[in-house]
Amino acid sequence: MQIMESSTHRDNLVEANLPPHPTHLQTVLQELYQQYQPLRAGKVASYIPELSKMNPDWFSICITTVDGQRYEVGDFQQLFTIQSIAKVFAYGLALEDHGSDFVLTKVGVEPTGEAFNAIILDEKFKRPYNPMVNPGAISITSLIKGDDQSERLQRLLDMFHRYIGHASFIDVPTYVSERTTGHRNRAIAHLMLNCGMIDQKIDDALDLYFQQSSLMVNCRDLATMAATLANKGINPITTERAVEACYVKDILSVMYTCGMYNFAGEWAYKVGLPAKSGVSGGILVVVPNRMGIGIFSPLLDERGNSVRGVKVCEALSAQLGLHLFDCAAQAGWSDE
Ligand code: GLU
Repeated sequence: MQIMESSTHRDNLVEANLPPHPTHLQTVLQELYQQYQPLRAGKVASYIPELSKMNPDWFSICITTVDGQRYEVGDFQQLFTIQSIAKVFAYGLALEDHGSDFVLTKVGVEPTGEAFNAIILDEKFKRPYNPMVNPGAISITSLIKGDDQSERLQRLLDMFHRYIGHASFIDVPTYVSERTTGHRNRAIAHLMLNCGMIDQKIDDALDLYFQQSSLMVNCRDLATMAATLANKGINPITTERAVEACYVKDILSVMYTCGMYNFAGEWAYKVGLPAKSGVSGGILVVVPNRMGIGIFSPLLDERGNSVRGVKVCEALSAQLGLHLFDCAAQAGWSDE
């Protein structure tokens, strides 16, 4: 197990307007790691053959504060494919490319209460329900601007670079695995084409979707990407802007209502923070104006969320008073 702390604790955290008792933030992470490491419930995703090769023991928790302090425990340098967490960032790029009014005509913002790969479309408004489920995400990749497929991919990679703070790459075996076995996603794209919800180039949109899902990140990267959204779109480590500030609220709103598959309502109720999970076991959580949290553990529950990840987030939210509507806890912060 690796444990690292790169902060001078309380002073930095108070500056970042963090909740009370920040001195024990690293200790909290270590305790949660110890508590949930023995938990073996859940299964590693196997519907994409490459994903089934992940080690069920991998587990890490990372925090990056909006003033660039990092707290990390476990296998936080272990690389894994980002999977559905990429949907959040592709949505941001589509918003920048077209503006939110136009994007809203193409992809709605209504939660579905259904699984990520459910084949359901809002036929009345001729659009997928939201950008966090597969129909919406495939439609979003079809909106990414670029003269050709390689320029569109490069723009996506550049965008991820800004959030992560360093170059990242696509894992080709996972991409090929997704591409060869992604029959359901192909069916979704064809259905959308049939209903006139997407243009003709569905193979390009699908390809970009499979590529973005196969981007390699580690848990530390997730925390930095989340902290960038928490910090109005500016990466707190590099100070580079990753997304225009005016779109951050759109992105976070959709994460809040639709980010955790068909557990989104219960998550909002219990954890109360915008988040997105992926089938490789990552969860990215934003605490607006305060910090980004990344969790990685590949054992998934039946809805596709990391079992340890959900437990850790419920505990972190309760212990640190992070729930957005926990007025009492937040009043306590400003009284400090
Ligand atoms: N590659 C995935 C798919 O569309 C993304 C799944 C996920 O993480 O929700 O099947």
